[in-house]
Amino acid sequence: MMRIHTVSPVTSVVENTRPGPHPLPGSVFKTLPPVSTHMKSFRIGSLFGIPIKLDLTFLLVLPLFAYLIGAQIGPVVEILNASMGAGIDAAALTTEWWLPYLVGLIAAIGLFVGVTLHELGHSLIAQRYGYPIDSITLWLFGGIAALSEMPEDWKQEFNIAIAGPIVSVLVGVASYLLFVVTPVGFNGTRFVLGYLAVLNVALAIFNMLPAFPMDGGRILRALLARSRPYARATQQAASIGKLFAIFMGLFGLLAFNIILIGVAFFVYIAASAEAQQVTMKAAFEGVTVADIMTPASDLHTVSPETTIEDLLQRMFRERHTGYPVLEGGHLVGLATLADAREIKPVERDAYRVEDVMSTDLKTVEATADASDALEEMQKNGIGRLLVVDREDFVGLVTRTDVMTALDIVQQSGSIDFSGERPAADDREQADTTGVDNRWP
Ligand SMILES: [Zn+2]
Repeated sequence: MMRIHTVSPVTSVVENTRPGPHPLPGSVFKTLPPVSTHMKSFRIGSLFGIPIKLDLTFLLVLPLFAYLIGAQIGPVVEILNASMGAGIDAAALTTEWWLPYLVGLIAAIGLFVGVTLHELGHSLIAQRYGYPIDSITLWLFGGIAALSEMPEDWKQEFNIAIAGPIVSVLVGVASYLLFVVTPVGFNGTRFVLGYLAVLNVALAIFNMLPAFPMDGGRILRALLARSRPYARATQQAASIGKLFAIFMGLFGLLAFNIILIGVAFFVYIAASAEAQQVTMKAAFEGVTVADIMTPASDLHTVSPETTIEDLLQRMFRERHTGYPVLEGGHLVGLATLADAREIKPVERDAYRVEDVMSTDLKTVEATADASDALEEMQKNGIGRLLVVDREDFVGLVTRTDVMTALDIVQQSGSIDFSGERPAADDREQADTTGVDNRWP
């Protein structure tokens, strides 16, 4: 069973042009399968049964934040003193050369604790609705809460999405209250608490930008989904998200802010990917692999004893470049043009299909969703999957089959797959027309 990972990267650095760079976390909340699986991360503990992990990129970002905050301590103190009457003595924080960086490190750690709590806000609400959380990971752009599934109920998505920013505001308020009760003279403590009060509220505001798949964009989709189909709401929210990403990227370019450009790029890709995924899921609602595969009875197959010479001749004649290999009705391998090419022309009579065929076969159940089959192909970087019904080989499904079916469904509105299976004649016709790209 395929799982969809919903990840929620959450932090960016926005540069404040006046007093210098201020790390300003933002939040994204999205579905992008590869991110969570490709990241190299290690677990540091768990909260409410959810593993908390640190990504390797986080180890780069933490010292960078510590440095940036430490280097900006003078201007930040001025802002805090002016806006909150903090009464912090900047000179006391710079008596040693390393002191500002130590304060910066503590503030940076506090910031990521805030980001973790933000993700925990999303996660605990999602958990309450029964969606398991794989992990919370801290990485380059902040935090990722990996949900096993994204709710399609607008109220649930709304509540999960808004929980993060609400937590950030509460963390900001709590930091402010602690700041207020900390006596004047505790300059370092008041600096960190004042700084976290401002940053956590800024984190909430940045995340509320309607840039899908950031939190604000998810809230937008949830609201749109009240009055239109989920897939349509996703497409609209994703279009707005991409527009925001472009603006963010341009702003990042003008401000020479690499991290903002990175976030913009990420938001753009993530919005596109999730919109595509949701569109496909909606179009393929109820369509199984069995509905779109080429059944085994219509497939051209070879036996393990077929010589490479014969195989190549059949490929030429039938214009297929891949053949399932059957032995006594059982599937034993797959032989492709690339496999046959490994044998030198003079030796093609001496070698057989069984010498070159691949036996590490990727299969999919006939009852699986068509969209899951495509995801499986994309994940493995392959163009075709063998379809099995328990142990039995029952057909073959290619990327082209899925894309063609998707095209037809999208252009014709919908197709009722629940009725009778296509007649044999229709099937055969479909096979001949699709023959060129069926075996890419
Ligand atoms: Zn969030």
